[in-house]
Amino acid sequence: MKIAIYPGSFDPVTNGHLNIIRRAANIFDKLIVCVMVNATKRPMFSLEERTEFLRRVTRDLENVEVDFADELLANYARRRGGCVIVKGLRATSDFENEFQMALINHKINPNLDTMFLTSEHQYMYLSSSTVKELACYDVDLQDFLPEKIIPDFKERIQALKEQGGTSHA
Ligand code: ADP
Repeated sequence: MKIAIYPGSFDPVTNGHLNIIRRAANIFDKLIVCVMVNATKRPMFSLEERTEFLRRVTRDLENVEVDFADELLANYARRRGGCVIVKGLRATSDFENEFQMALINHKINPNLDTMFLTSEHQYMYLSSSTVKELACYDVDLQDFLPEKIIPDFKERIQALKEQGGTSHA
């Protein structure tokens, strides 16, 4: 059984992420979407919230599991029996860093390869941080976020506005 891991912050999951998840789930026997703890980022949603959002929007995909991890990705993949890391590539700006990470992960775990799926054109500009910035300006979020999480997202933005700050990494 070919198991792939799709890691990220998913703060929150966007339609761009979901597009990669659906396509990768069609390629592999099983896809584990893993919310990674990143100590350098200050997320808008907690690890549990990000995980729950992902579970909610992937419920119809039978071979997709959602998990979270606070360990080196290469070790996590080994522990879970994953042989491929899936990454989405939006523009050449994503490439250099991703290429370096792919080499490092392969060095730590030689059984692990990284596969890049190019973003579909309508999602090329889309990142979680862009959506968080746009949200402050009251735009229609349907093109950017899965419908099932929009009410929670709006609620959080509103709560943060009331507290006087929406800036997140
Ligand atoms: P971001 O905050 O940039 O969305 P994540 O860590 O959540 O970052 O992204 C996880 C993975 O999903 C990365 O491989 C990233 O390149 C990919 N990704 C993010 N947004 C898109 C998109 N719109 N299209 C394709 N891949 C994407």
